Amino acid sequence: MLGRWGRPPGGRSWNDLVGRVMKQEEIDRHFMNIALELARKAAENGDAPVGALVVEDGQILGTGYNRIECEGDPTAHAELIALREAARRKGDWRLRGATLYATLEPCIMCAAAAVHARVARVVFGVHDERWGGVGSLFDLGHDPRLNHGFEVISGIQAKESAELCRVFFNGLRAKKV
Ligand code: ZN
Repeated sequence: MLGRWGRPPGGRSWNDLVGRVMKQEEIDRHFMNIALELARKAAENGDAPVGALVVEDGQILGTGYNRIECEGDPTAHAELIALREAARRKGDWRLRGATLYATLEPCIMCAAAAVHARVARVVFGVHDERWGGVGSLFDLGHDPRLNHGFEVISGIQAKESAELCRVFFNGLRAKKV
């Protein structure tokens, strides 16, 4: 019994397709947990807890966490650090086929860097209403004026990432009082 949708393209069964989607979600959660570990390192250094990874063919090519405060560098965002390392390791700045994972929605600068790097996917945890460049303020992954776009997946391990941010910023506020 094929049901009303018949067979999916490519001769696979619907169960296979659903299975593949589930598997991708599990893979995304796995890598996001590693990004969360990196985010914790940022917080240990007094930086906002954001971690990022660049993954291609199941291999981690680059990792990063925020180092803005500890290096005094306004561009030392987790995603940029991870993208730079990935390009160096690959020996090619075009990271076609790669996924950029970030615990927080990449800001406008990092979203633009992901466009420049030609990544295939951006996966993040929590939306950032103040700076978000892949859905909140701007949607640079789906902007027809740009010469490249990417798939965007949000909400992966979002609770964990939001909790890290909440604890960090509560701590900052407590220090200021
Ligand atoms: Zn950024």
